[in-house]
Amino acid sequence: INTNRFSTAAAVQELITPQVSINYTQHLINGKFVDAASGKTFPTLDPRTGEVIAHVAEGDAEDINRAVSAAREAFDNGPWPKMSAYERCRILLRFADLVEKHNDEIAALEAWNNGKLYEQAAKAEVPMFVRLFRYYAGWADKIHGLTVPADGDYHVQTLHEPIGVAGQIIPWNFPLLMFAWKVGPALACGNTIVLKTAEQTPLTALLVAKLLHEAGLPPGVLNIVSGYGPTAGASLASHMDVDKLAFTGSTDTGKTVLELAARSNLKPVTLELGGKSPFIVFEEADIDKVVEIAHFALFFNQGQCCCAGSRTFVHERIYDEFLEKSKERALRRVVGDPFKKGVEQGPQIDSKQFEKVLRYIKSGIDSNATLECGGGRLGSKGFFVQPTVFSNVQDDMLIAKDEIFGPVQTILKFKDINEVIRRANATRYGLAAGVFTNNVSTANTLMRALRAGTVWINCFDVFDAAIPFGGYKMSGIGREKGIYSLHNYLQVKAVVSPLNNPAWL
Ligand code: NAD
Repeated sequence: INTNRFSTAAAVQELITPQVSINYTQHLINGKFVDAASGKTFPTLDPRTGEVIAHVAEGDAEDINRAVSAAREAFDNGPWPKMSAYERCRILLRFADLVEKHNDEIAALEAWNNGKLYEQAAKAEVPMFVRLFRYYAGWADKIHGLTVPADGDYHVQTLHEPIGVAGQIIPWNFPLLMFAWKVGPALACGNTIVLKTAEQTPLTALLVAKLLHEAGLPPGVLNIVSGYGPTAGASLASHMDVDKLAFTGSTDTGKTVLELAARSNLKPVTLELGGKSPFIVFEEADIDKVVEIAHFALFFNQGQCCCAGSRTFVHERIYDEFLEKSKERALRRVVGDPFKKGVEQGPQIDSKQFEKVLRYIKSGIDSNATLECGGGRLGSKGFFVQPTVFSNVQDDMLIAKDEIFGPVQTILKFKDINEVIRRANATRYGLAAGVFTNNVSTANTLMRALRAGTVWINCFDVFDAAIPFGGYKMSGIGREKGIYSLHNYLQVKAVVSPLNNPAWL
């Protein structure tokens, strides 16, 4: 049913053409851009066309070794962990100002390499990146330990110290925001870093890292290695000289890196993994408004959000109307070049994800869910998928259980509150949930009963630097953002000293 409008829709206006060029494709190690030790490169693509836009240094174990050595030296002997916290704060603030100044250029590179909407990157993601760095800059000089009341004649205090060299591995769906969620708190706490970007989207991290050095970051504090997961990523996760690992990506890879960390030096690991978040609509909700929010909750960023509202549960009394309106909204969704005004959806990131999404759509059809609209490819090049809606979805179908990570909405019917709580929680994931109701007692019941790291009540995808994010169950370990993220990058040292001579003297 190929009725989604593809670029030619009346609403679509001219192409936005911000100035952007690709200036940084090498690893960033010890403050310098350098080739891979092997001299190898890999191609990075424009998802609109599948064409190569740059060749990027391909890191493997040797590059990770070099980057970790630089980070180790910067931690053990460099100025960063020891400098005044206020000075660290000022460097991060200067960096935020520089990013703000280059907002459009950075957003354009992000959209070009990822396929996300340029306007989304320019108006929301780069500004949120700036906000995150200002937020963590603000924390830099407010991190301190406690004086602990202890029995006996002892003075007891805790020192909150940086943990050391942090290894960070990020995915491709929000390359800049994932950088900010990890690098911001780690730097504020005085750590040094080796960051492995996703192989699909290596470019913007290198551009902003250049600005971070312009803002005054000492060499070796942030090192970036581009490359693939099983080589560069696995070397970082298993490195004996990395003191902490923070990973965002799929649940399967999360298990792998946790094992690698455990088998090497038992470094502590935080994981932000996948989700299959319920979006629950009760009968008294305002249907038109909630249809629009549900549409956004699923289709935002081409459906490539870990917290996408990917199981839309609708009360049986409003199900038919909700479904009809959701279908009509999906058919109106404008798919096309993410640099054009009025376009709502760009391409999926690459052929692998594109094919995976199409396989899930086929599995939905094969398992007798009803394909209401969409279901296929759009255009003849690039990785565009039609906005797709399934009804008559049962909980045991693959499309209701697995993370599709694409523009595929599955709409399920429920009868009562206890049933929907049970079904919403019957998943291996627990990242987020949305609840739409005008009934305070329903809202109160669900906010406690849902086993998810975020519960949005009458809203969805509301993010802020100060709001923690992370998963229950197989959606992860630990929290990022807010004050919680600082704990990921600090060691607590207890210091005990006698007030008078100790008893044995
Ligand atoms: P992925 O797990 O394949 O890749 C993520 C990162 O891990 C990449 O940098 C990749 O190179 C690296 N990697 C892959 N194999 C590795 C290995 N063996 N050792 C070390 N590193 C390895 O995930 P993806 O498909 O690229 O990303 C999408 C997934 O990320 C989705 O499941 C999504 O839900 C999840 N995600 C979660 C959050 C969150 O905050 N919870 C945010 C964004 C994405």
